[in-house]
Amino acid sequence: MRRDIFKKRTSLTKVIIILVFIMFLPALFYSAYQFSTLGAYEDMIKQVYTQQLETILFSINQYAWDYVGSWTNKIHQSLIHKDKKTRSENLSELLETNQTIKQIIFLDTLLNKPVIFPEQSGRDDYDKELAVLRGDKNRIQNVLKISRQGYQRIESIFIKDSHSAAEDKMVLFYIQPLANQNQILVAISIHPQVFITEVLAPKLAQIAGTQFALGIFNLKDNKILYSNENFTIDRVSQQKKLWLFPDYYLGIHLTGESIETLAGSRFTNSLILIGLLDVLLIIGGIFLVYNLRKEMQLARLKSDFVSNVSHELRTPLALIRMYAETLEMNRVKSDSKRYEYYRIINYESERLTRLINNILNFSRIESGKKEYKLKSLDLNRIAENVIEMYLYQIEKEGFILHRELDTSLPTVIADEEAISESLINLLDNAIKYSPDKKEITVRTGRINNEIYLEVKDEGIGIDVKYQSAVFDKFYRISSALVHDTKGSGLGLALVKHIMHAHRGRIDLNSALNEGSSFKLVFPLKDEDSN
Ligand code: ADP
Repeated sequence: MRRDIFKKRTSLTKVIIILVFIMFLPALFYSAYQFSTLGAYEDMIKQVYTQQLETILFSINQYAWDYVGSWTNKIHQSLIHKDKKTRSENLSELLETNQTIKQIIFLDTLLNKPVIFPEQSGRDDYDKELAVLRGDKNRIQNVLKISRQGYQRIESIFIKDSHSAAEDKMVLFYIQPLANQNQILVAISIHPQVFITEVLAPKLAQIAGTQFALGIFNLKDNKILYSNENFTIDRVSQQKKLWLFPDYYLGIHLTGESIETLAGSRFTNSLILIGLLDVLLIIGGIFLVYNLRKEMQLARLKSDFVSNVSHELRTPLALIRMYAETLEMNRVKSDSKRYEYYRIINYESERLTRLINNILNFSRIESGKKEYKLKSLDLNRIAENVIEMYLYQIEKEGFILHRELDTSLPTVIADEEAISESLINLLDNAIKYSPDKKEITVRTGRINNEIYLEVKDEGIGIDVKYQSAVFDKFYRISSALVHDTKGSGLGLALVKHIMHAHRGRIDLNSALNEGSSFKLVFPLKDEDSN
């Protein structure tokens, strides 16, 4: 017996171990892997995003650069002309088409002999420009050096206006090589504000679209010079100096949610999903193990059932055969003895019939084929009929039977045979499980809207922890007495099924060693309520 239990335990443990290896370990490894790589993916996304922003800012800078490049080209084209008139016509055209340019100053490389364009400008107009150029000799030298190496470098100097930011100026200067090794310093004076709003703003708006927020601001005072409508300076996720105007910055960020929050919420969402899947997997696993345990328990109960039933069948058959043979050989002399033998044969065959009926009914109920013939029934009459049939047997076993039948009881709608069978099962159990105090009470009554038929004994009782299990099919409590008593474990399961089919229930009231009371409880018919 112990070996058997041990074997069953080990097979369940085996199943659990296999489950862990097949389901849980890969899932857990997968989760751990996902968990560790999630961060890396998010970093990668952020990196790609940063690069994208960088490229956008680069392209804006490049655009500004190319724009100024087109000016320097045109200036060069006009300088090529020997004829002063054509030269000035060309320059005028440049200034006309580019309102951003305030004036152009040409100087020799020693910063002398300034020539101003447009010529009508007064000297005051370029005083400041000349002063800042002359005050930054190092940068002029640097531009010259680079020019000698064959490159053209455009530098800029910012001239702050003490009165208004709109009047701030910017001098863009570079060296323009001319024929015969000559060269000239060209300084283009512009209003940066105008350049930003006239030249850069349309480009920024076009690039930004609805996806990005772009702005140009001064890093020193965080003052925004231009921005599209969604731009907020404290959300800037990438910023870059404007090459042409080193005092100004380009800033960019995503409109709507920032990539950090997007990546963050994606990260938490993925984590929640993985966690949820793991929880589901664990619940599934627990459910599976629970069901497996139940199935294995049922398989064990079924095998116990087969041995119990074979035993139950064999005993009455052996008795019947023995008494029948004795009677057949005419060995019984006294009439009373003969009468008793007939009774025993009758009783044992009744027991057999009951057992077989229980099994057949149970299998009919399980397969859903059981049909009930419902009609109006008087529970007192059923109780009387069954008691009449079994009284001799009950008293022969040494029991005292008390009847407490409520005669005012209304009828119930029920199947007579099924209810009689339920009562017989309850009486049978009361006899089987009352070894010492042999008293049984059959009671009927009404409580509120319910009618009951109760069988109460003073027997071994049922421990609370087994009280719901006794109604399971094949279940038998494994105590010494129950072990010695014959039974199939089907009786109470059958009674429970029958009562459910009648929209009623079976109530058990019992404590270990204090007897048991089983109540078949029926709902009151509608017309009898109140
Ligand atoms: P069985 O054929 O074993 O009697 P039942 O389904 O009728 O099957 O009962 C299930 C188990 O419930 C019994 O094996 C017994 O352990 C317990 N039981 C049933 N009726 C009583 C009772 N009146 N007193 C004590 N134990 C009972």
